[in-house]
Amino acid sequence: MRYSKLFSPTLRDTPADAEVVSHQLLLRAGFIRRVTSGIYDYLPLGLRVLRNVERIVREEMNRAGGQELLMPMVQPSEFWQKSGRWEKYGPELLRFKDRHGHESCLGPTHEEVICDLMSRELRSYKQLPMNLYQVQNKFRDEIRPRFGLMRGREFVMKDAYSFHANDECLAAEYQNMFETYHRIFHRLGLKFRAVEADNGSIGGSASHEFHVLADSGEDLITHCSHCEYAANVEKAVSKPQTYQGSDSSLTEVDTPYQTAVEDVAALLKVATSSLLKTLIFHVDGGENDGQVVAACVRGSDQLQDIKLARALGATEVVLASAEEIASIGTITGFSGPMDLNCPVYIDASLHDAVGLIAGANKKGLHVSGLNIQRDLNNVIFADLRQTQAGDTCVKCNIGLMEMSRGIEVGHIFELGTTYSKPMDVLFQDEHGKRAVATMGCYGIGVSRLMAAVVEQCHDDAGITWPVNIAPFQASVITLGKSETAFAASEKVYQDLLQAGVDVVWDDRKESPGVKFKDAELIGIPLRIIVGDRGLDNDALELKTRWGAVEEASLADVCQKAQHMLADMQQG
Ligand code: ATP
Ligand code: MG
Repeated sequence: MRYSKLFSPTLRDTPADAEVVSHQLLLRAGFIRRVTSGIYDYLPLGLRVLRNVERIVREEMNRAGGQELLMPMVQPSEFWQKSGRWEKYGPELLRFKDRHGHESCLGPTHEEVICDLMSRELRSYKQLPMNLYQVQNKFRDEIRPRFGLMRGREFVMKDAYSFHANDECLAAEYQNMFETYHRIFHRLGLKFRAVEADNGSIGGSASHEFHVLADSGEDLITHCSHCEYAANVEKAVSKPQTYQGSDSSLTEVDTPYQTAVEDVAALLKVATSSLLKTLIFHVDGGENDGQVVAACVRGSDQLQDIKLARALGATEVVLASAEEIASIGTITGFSGPMDLNCPVYIDASLHDAVGLIAGANKKGLHVSGLNIQRDLNNVIFADLRQTQAGDTCVKCNIGLMEMSRGIEVGHIFELGTTYSKPMDVLFQDEHGKRAVATMGCYGIGVSRLMAAVVEQCHDDAGITWPVNIAPFQASVITLGKSETAFAASEKVYQDLLQAGVDVVWDDRKESPGVKFKDAELIGIPLRIIVGDRGLDNDALELKTRWGAVEEASLADVCQKAQHMLADMQQG
């Protein structure tokens, strides 16, 4: 490709609405352009990177025994009614009617479509196991699309679905995919971590998320300093510090203006860990839909609302309105677990806690000396607290939990028969009996990965793409205006093309400064500089994006470039 013909509109200034570095750089360097909220054009450079990421994903999926197919983006509502998700999925599912009044949706995921296909085509155990995957655009009407490709409404996903005759076979494929994902993210040059994950609304049993470690990540993940245990905080369990409270009688204490945990603790001159924090929620989805519930954790802990939702069998919990809070007999800022007119959930670590301070459900009052076993009836204990840095690991009992932020780029699930049963994915087993196939599903956010790579691979000058996904591996940069330099550049460019190097030739009539800056911004791993001075000395400069410089004669420069690229691949 000649740079003079390349459509890569760069921006000098950082776009004001781009908050994270990947969004800024992908816009500035001309990889993407916004069409509308959460929807982007991939310009030629962006598409090159996207295709490179896809290539690695495909190579590894094929190597692992997957077969690629392509399913449609438009999906009929009947499939979703059959699986039960037409009602459950919520507003992320974009539903519409065609001219005949027939209801459809844009696919946010493809369990329904693949199960429908398999329900028609699967006959015998002899066809199993099978792993089918696609790389395709998904649509999710995200409530808050943001950070460019990180959380789009239309985005590219690799989604795979495996079918099995029994659970042992599913477990083996889950392990196969777990290892395949490690290979994919290693090849992309990423620092990442696989963590145990909550299954969310998709259902099933085992599940792992793969997170690219980055401060801009939306997820909080935790891992043990000693053993392998790592989990999303939505799911993580750990042992909190042990707290000693002294048992005393229940007494009302005046807290006229103090509503926040810290303020009550300061007034009463105690640590926040002596307080019991009571939060009131409205339940969405499941058998407790619409209920109001109270949930309590220690004042020094955070309540993990996904854990509460799971304990309730709900889709989610949201903080209750003032009216709902009044309806259960309490008041904002002074809520406590006693005598509430609603179910009360208490974090399991507080099962035997004594000497706590809690809201008295009366304005301006708290109680001290709360003894959970003595003073409360009919409460439900569940794991509700969020793991904190410094908690003891429950798996090894030695290490301490550490926290980091992550970008979720992959998610694997053992689904079991959650979808295959309602969707009638049946087969004849070895004994001639009809059986339900058991299923796994495995997603990778291909377009999100592109942004995640930039979050880890950039410097002040621009993007530093790993060689195997860079839009071009090398750039031949012509310096000056001489005929000789131009002709020599063209020869180097042609030789590199011949050798199979993905190369761009910067043949523009721009200053060296502009050419170098653009190559750095775009993140091309290797620059080969062809100017009169280098040609006169027969010593052309080759410079990596990471600052290493080498020289080669005109005759050797092509081979030298290939060696340097190969070294960068390995390094
Ligand atoms: P998140 O918690 O980030 O919303 P999810 O749990 O909804 O993700 P999955 O349903 O597991 O995501 O989808 C598989 C993969 O698709 C995710 O691991 C992620 O990498 C990617 N993905 C999901 N939603 C988006 C989005 N809105 N934009 C870009 N990629 C996405
Ligand atoms: Mg989501």
